[in-house]
Amino acid sequence: MTITDPAHKSMDDIVALCKRRGFVFPASEIYGGLNGFWDYGPLGTALKNNIRDWWWKRTVECPPIGPDGEPVSIVGLDSSIIQNPKTWEASGHVGGFSDPMVDCTESKKRYRADQLHAAAVITSDEYQENHPLQLTMVWFAWLENDEVSRAQAYRKAEKFVKKNGGKFDPSQHASFMFLAGADPQEDVSIEDRAMLLGRIVGPDTDKPGTLTPPRDFNLMFETYVGAIRDEDAKAYLRPETAQGIFLNYLNVLNTMRVKMPFGIAQIGKSFRNEVTPRNFIFRSREFEQMEMEWFCAPEDSPKWYQFWKEERMNWWESLGISPENLRFRDHDEDELAHYSKMCVDVEYQYPFTAPGFGELEGVAHRGCFDLTQHQTHSKTKMEYFDQERQLRAKEAGKSKEEIDAVSKYIPNVIEPASGLTRAVLVLLCEAYTPDDSRPSKVFMKFKPRFAPIKAGVFPLVAKDGMPEAAQKLYLDLRERFAVQMDVKQNIGRRYARMDEAGTPFCVTIDGETLSDQTVTVRDRDSQGQQRINISQVETFLSEQIEQ
Ligand code: ATP
Repeated sequence: MTITDPAHKSMDDIVALCKRRGFVFPASEIYGGLNGFWDYGPLGTALKNNIRDWWWKRTVECPPIGPDGEPVSIVGLDSSIIQNPKTWEASGHVGGFSDPMVDCTESKKRYRADQLHAAAVITSDEYQENHPLQLTMVWFAWLENDEVSRAQAYRKAEKFVKKNGGKFDPSQHASFMFLAGADPQEDVSIEDRAMLLGRIVGPDTDKPGTLTPPRDFNLMFETYVGAIRDEDAKAYLRPETAQGIFLNYLNVLNTMRVKMPFGIAQIGKSFRNEVTPRNFIFRSREFEQMEMEWFCAPEDSPKWYQFWKEERMNWWESLGISPENLRFRDHDEDELAHYSKMCVDVEYQYPFTAPGFGELEGVAHRGCFDLTQHQTHSKTKMEYFDQERQLRAKEAGKSKEEIDAVSKYIPNVIEPASGLTRAVLVLLCEAYTPDDSRPSKVFMKFKPRFAPIKAGVFPLVAKDGMPEAAQKLYLDLRERFAVQMDVKQNIGRRYARMDEAGTPFCVTIDGETLSDQTVTVRDRDSQGQQRINISQVETFLSEQIEQ
């Protein structure tokens, strides 16, 4: 039986396969690793490149046709990771790019306050009498609202009840932000805040009162440019690729034949000193993003927001992700940044969030915030003069003021921002298919276009001219596809290895090949085999991969 439900896939098993087969390794593993950093192995690199190339193809080289039936225009960019630090003052990252963070004075662990949740234990009279703080309620906290961490916290709470009496009441739920009085929605006095904080048992301790109140923690990595390490030399590793696009908006406008509306796209590394890197490569400190800034006239922006929202979902489905594992989550008004008019997340049902969902991409209507900020801070004019609008307004007989109002503007921006490394995680989770009936017990069901290896080429045995015939086929095929030749071990083991690598096809040269020029092609998913002529293998593969 094969398992496809994300709730029944084990993250530990997926991580183990990634290590075993060379998808993802912990970074600097021989030195004990570094929390929040990962290296992509040979198969992981190929998978990541395949996703990256598909995004580039569908965003820059062959973007979707626009809502009015005309092709849209998007150009590519590759900006520096380190920019003038004023960039991050203008963008708001220096002042505001922070997460409220909580320290545990006992375990020395650090958590993101907005990810902590807690459930209550109503303590027994005896406990209250014996306890100096007279606690009527103790709250047991856990990190992130997923099944595993919640279950761990519940076990701890139940143990506490067994030892001290009282009643565990998981229906009494609260976020740490509320318990600590840090939730902006809640008006909690300093005394109440101290009392509530004193009642929380942190995720990695057994006694209450070891968590500090939330403090803001800037997520940007700092570095120094040049030989002197003083404040003037301080710079930052970019926390997002988007700002590099805004910085080059005028350069692109002045050098390319683009006119409104148009987009600039970029793929590259971003760095965030995340307080709690977690869930494998889901939240890491170094990761890759794929971002596109779509510049348009302010009054056209709602139309483009809707368009990109739908197109981005279409793109995720084109990766072979099943639609029931994807969904939109529109941000509530109180979640929106002050400049943002609309924002929606594309979410995926990860094994560690199932049956819930987690973020994969954000599509935001950013208004004219970014360009206006850079205009103010750099004193460089970002206004766009829209000749077509001017002409239309003139033809419509508008007044000079009206013509100026519609033809000169700072463009609005619609931003689809996604994580490339998070997309790798999604495809790894989606493809991971336990199957007891096959020797490998699991196979990676990648859509052929994204599979790191498209075909394995095997001589059935290492004699009778089969290795030579296999080598010739391998050398021909590798001109066009990522293929791998494997001569070692029995054929069943070789299939099993390819199943774990997610290779959709295995081509075997056997005794018959030498006499009639046919080979067997084994299909990864059905495990069925067909015989085709060796000369047809290339066409067969290209048809399957292009699908
Ligand atoms: P979160 O709220 O989870 O911290 P975010 O909303 O701040 O994320 P954005 O700034 O919108 O994320 O970044 C766009 C995309 O970049 C995210 O949807 C995600 O795919 C990816 N991303 C952001 N932070 C990380 C990270 N630490 N590790 C991996 N991918 C990330």
